[in-house]
Amino acid sequence: MNVVEFQKVLVADDDAVNREVLGDLLKPEYTVLLARNGAQTLERAARHLPDLILLDVLMPDMDGHEVLRRLRDDPQTEHISVIFISGLNRPEDEANGLKMGASDYIIKPFNPTVVMARVALHLQVLRQRRMLERLANIDGLTELANRRRFDEMYALEWQRARRSGRPLSLALLDIDAFKQYNDRYGHPAGDRALRSVARVAGAAMRRPADLAARYGGEELVLLMPETEAADARRVIAQLVDTVAGLAIAHEASNVAPVLTVSVGGATLHGDSGEQQSELFEAADAELYRAKQAGRNRIAWRERVTLQT
Ligand code: GH3
Ligand code: MG
Ligand code: MG
Repeated sequence: MNVVEFQKVLVADDDAVNREVLGDLLKPEYTVLLARNGAQTLERAARHLPDLILLDVLMPDMDGHEVLRRLRDDPQTEHISVIFISGLNRPEDEANGLKMGASDYIIKPFNPTVVMARVALHLQVLRQRRMLERLANIDGLTELANRRRFDEMYALEWQRARRSGRPLSLALLDIDAFKQYNDRYGHPAGDRALRSVARVAGAAMRRPADLAARYGGEELVLLMPETEAADARRVIAQLVDTVAGLAIAHEASNVAPVLTVSVGGATLHGDSGEQQSELFEAADAELYRAKQAGRNRIAWRERVTLQT
């Protein structure tokens, strides 16, 4: 995680004293939002998307159970964690609340230290879950997006390009003579070189929607939504030069005395067609051409126009 942000907690209670006590308790460590009834809870939850809601069960307009049901019915808010805080203190009340999908159930009158400890615990679980989700999308060696993440984003951007008719550029990068590099310098050095190339590729993807991913082995894939062929080509040509400019010695290469890469790219235009694979295959064919033409270069299909 690059930015440390306060996690958000929404305190929903019709009792002003409870709101104040809980709010003051949480304020030093979290961003606190307050709601005085069920309707306000739903409205603030949808607007601010808190990480956790401390939800009073007995409220005059809409009880906590109903609030929880409605939160779960809305795709935007269904994942928000909820802790019930309730004066209903029978075991079956507690069991019922948990069965409804609350993460926890705290009985009033509450002990401030216990409330804080439970909130901290649930928020820690949330942070860890998010970190796992993030790691599941990242390639361990290069720290670029992994194949899974690429497949997901490619499907999404391809659909979007088709709908909008805006261009979508895609490039496949393959390190030249990498087998010889490993043979000559050893696998750990190969890994380091691959990481350097990945770093350069990642840095070349400047727009928020751009994506650099490790496709597999020593092949990377670069996805540039809303980018015309000429612009994408320029970015990638620069990337190819930058890699050579790293001047990673490669004495066993017959391409250059340094480590180089070849890239095949293609740009999709058009709002018809069915096949997501067409753009990828075009880029792959261009990569083959770049290799055939001598490596350490790019080849580009300017226009992949999809037709049904
Ligand atoms: P070309 O110029 O045609 O691309 O030749 P090449 O030697 O790169 O050919 P090829 O694509 O067949 O070989 C890729 C090599 O990359 C083989 C494999 O050992 C190596 N490789 C793939 N993944 C990794 C990795 O994660 N680390 C290291 N060190 N090497 C890898
Ligand atoms: Mg390869
Ligand atoms: Mg290669």
